[in-house]
Parts: sequence; C-alpha cells; structure tokens
Amino acid sequence: MEKNIKNPLKKIVQPLLLWYAETARELPWRRDKEPYHVWLSEIMLQQTRVEAVKQYYLRFMAQLPTIKALAEAEEAVLLKLWEGLGYYNRVRNIQKAAKVIMEQYGGVFPGDYEAIHSLPGIGDYTAGAIASICFEQPTPAVDGNVLRVISRLTNDARCVDLPLVKREITEKLREIYPKTHRGDFTQALMELGAIVCVPNGEPKCSVCPLQKLCLAKQQDTWDQIPLKAKKKARRLEELTVFIFRCGGKLALRKRTQPGVLSGMLELPNTAGFLSETEMVKTAKAWGVSVSDIELCAHEKHVFTHIEWHMRCYFVTCRAEGDAFLWASENELNQQYALPSAFKKILRERQTELPG
Ligand code: SF4
Repeated sequence: MEKNIKNPLKKIVQPLLLWYAETARELPWRRDKEPYHVWLSEIMLQQTRVEAVKQYYLRFMAQLPTIKALAEAEEAVLLKLWEGLGYYNRVRNIQKAAKVIMEQYGGVFPGDYEAIHSLPGIGDYTAGAIASICFEQPTPAVDGNVLRVISRLTNDARCVDLPLVKREITEKLREIYPKTHRGDFTQALMELGAIVCVPNGEPKCSVCPLQKLCLAKQQDTWDQIPLKAKKKARRLEELTVFIFRCGGKLALRKRTQPGVLSGMLELPNTAGFLSETEMVKTAKAWGVSVSDIELCAHEKHVFTHIEWHMRCYFVTCRAEGDAFLWASENELNQQYALPSAFKKILRERQTELPG
C-alpha cells in the first residue's frame, strides 16, 4: 500500500481507464476475452500493423477456430495462413503451445501467469497480456510502446533496452494495477503507445489523457526519450536466385539450411552472385535443362539481423528436373506458403503462370 502512495505512476490509472473506455478501437480480437483470440492477435501484432493483422487474424480464426483445430492442423496450412507475416517459427510455436494445452490442460487455456509463460513461444510480454486481459491478473505487458510511454511520463532518460530498466518499469506498473479493469488497464497502456504517444514522429500530447502528469511534456524532452541502444549493423549476404519456369509451373524447394527461413519453401538459390555461365552449370547440376535465361532483377530483402542482396534469373526450362517441387500458379496461391523475400521477386517479374 505504501508503495502505491509513493509511486507517482498511480495517478495515471483513472485517467487512462476513462480515456480507454471512451476511445478504445473496435478490433476483432477485442470482441471477447477468449485467451486464444488475445494470444494469436498479440503474436501477430509483434510482426505488423494493426490494419494488416485484422485480415490475417480473421482468416486464421475462420480456418482454425479452436485451440483443438490449431493443434491438429497440418504445418502447410499454418504456414499458408502466416504467409507474409515472417518469423515463421512463431506460428510453429503457437501450434506447439496448442498441443501442450490439449495434452496437459485438457484443451483449456491455463489462467495462471507462470503456466502461461511456460508455454512454447510465450514470453513476459505475451504472458502478461493474456493473464491480465483474459484473467484479470495484475501482470503488466511491457513492450516498446509501454516502455516509451512510461519513460516519457517519468522523464526517464535511461536506455530502455537495458534489462534493468525494463524490470523496474514492469515492477512500477505492477504496483499500480487497479483492483478491477486490470485487462483494460493493460490495453489502455498499449493503446496509448500505439495511437497517441507514437513511436515515430511527434507524440499527440494535445489529445493525451496524461498530458498534465507527463514530465517529458512539461520539460519538452519527448524527442530525447526513450533512449535506445544503437542497433548492430546487419550482415549482408549475396544470393543468386532462380525463377525456373517449365510449362505453366514454377520450381520451389524446401530450405534446409539452419537459420533464416529454415524449413520454408523457397525459390532455388545459391550463395554469391553467379555469372550466366556459372548459373547454367548450377542449373545442370540440379538436373534442369535450360532453354532460355534472362537476368531479371536485383532485389534486397531485410531481415532483423541479415540483409539479402539477390541477383535473380528468369530461366525457361525444357523439362522439370526431379530436384524441385513444381507448382502451378493456383497451387502457389492456394496451397504453398512462399516467404516475402521470394514473393516480391515474382511480383517484380510479374511472372504469369497458367493455372
Ligand atoms: Fe506521450 Fe505526450 Fe502523453 Fe507524455 S503527454 S505520455 S509525451 S503523448
């Protein structure tokens, strides 16, 4: 109790809850407090914007409406539903967790923070979000948005990437959780960081319910806070990528190397930039008989720690070699998940494949 009196953040609770009650956006995953819905949306929201997540979320739920359906789904179906979101291990982990829920919890999502946190792919943030939104636990969900809001409110100029700073902010928030509407409080903080105290550009302090309490606003320091650690430069990798086309089909294969996109389908490729002569040799070694080659694009794709620079060849083949999976356009659209790094090469080329 004494902690709450000393904690200056206590004053944010009521204005934030009032603001959220009046202005919360209608989002498909907020229609109820079903843990599966909150969980899936939170994982998807770690990857892209709310507007893009809506379509992914609705499609996923239409096809896999229950944890049981998710646990039993074919991996190919999961990957297709996730296609374009990236970080495919996340959807694999979602399924692993669904299987644990089926086997260890009789298909019922556990309500305890520690049990939620122990599920595959669920870290502090997601466990905090699910436990508070779905089970009314006083468990903060502290991500970049919340760190920014709290460090601005308190004019805390320390680096938010330091584990100690994150731990302290989490603790300060835990102390001020209200007795009711705990899930709303978690969501209000997230919402404020997403649409008012925004990550890029000037925060919208004039419409912020906390403007009278905010030290960064009073001292005009919002543009220096939060302090973030300098990101390490990405490693550059050069690749030669092949769009092998035979009749109406396109060659795909499963990526076997560990690391980025491991286990996903890909356009055949090899390390380094190959000349045309080297490229024909490589195609031959893969059992592909080349009839025509065209250098079609240079593309760049950025992952978190790596940057791919791709030299892409469009190759017409006489016969399908055995080394690849040959997919029609229809199969590519309906069945196979191809990561964005390769999809954009096809878009660029506007490859037309008869169905
Ligand atoms: Fe962010 Fe401005 Fe609100 Fe402070 S007043 S929390 S800087 S939006």
